[in-house]
Amino acid sequence: MRKILLAGNWKMHGSKAMVDTLLNALLSASKPDDGVDLAVFPPFPYLQRTQNILRASVIAWGGQTLNPEPPGAHTGEVCAPMLLDFGCRYVLVGHSERRTLYGENDADVAWRFEAARKAGLEPVLCVGETLEQREAGATEEIVSRQISAVIDRCGIGAFDSATIAYEPVWAIGTGKTATPDQAQEIHAFIRDKLGRLDGIISRQIRILYGGSVNRSNAADLFARDDIDGGLVGGASLKAADFLAIRDAIL
Ligand code: PEP
Repeated sequence: MRKILLAGNWKMHGSKAMVDTLLNALLSASKPDDGVDLAVFPPFPYLQRTQNILRASVIAWGGQTLNPEPPGAHTGEVCAPMLLDFGCRYVLVGHSERRTLYGENDADVAWRFEAARKAGLEPVLCVGETLEQREAGATEEIVSRQISAVIDRCGIGAFDSATIAYEPVWAIGTGKTATPDQAQEIHAFIRDKLGRLDGIISRQIRILYGGSVNRSNAADLFARDDIDGGLVGGASLKAADFLAIRDAIL
């Protein structure tokens, strides 16, 4: 049985005051036997503060991206050992904003996934199609290609300690959500694709849905067989909104 994971991607939002308020509110509303795993993805400068607040809790945290190179001359970049140094369990790889705004292609994403796994971080591999691609009937082809790039580089075994987030690009930050049927269809497609290579991994891996998840749509989405939780942007920035999603699915 896969436990639901609710992960908050703060993107480039936050301040010291916001981190303190949000995390302390999550902390006081969490219990070890909640039935839902929580994780947050703050911007890099707030990782130390996050570690200080959450270190003795059941809430996990991670980086929003990483540079796959070992420590060295890469001004402005952050590598996997640094994320580990601040207690990160997870790291997002291939978020659509990284792909579209910062030019990360499938090969870059696979390299990041590999670097994360080798360092002992659990990558959360984000995949998803644009509206144009969906309307052209290419959703499965795109998602399949994005996942195959990682399998080709790292092998299916690398997914034994990883998460996939299906995030249709047209649903991210737009207020448009995939219907539970639309999301379930692609989640089942992803699980089936992995299952052709490794049945155990395909049954155990968590596949999250991301794209305008909120307190009103979460329960219907996460009730579907292959949807194991959510990667949440906007609604993860206020404790009340994020906890309302958790409470809607408990
Ligand atoms: C995201 O940033 O991954 C995301 C899904 O954002 P939002 O929930 O705001 O659509």
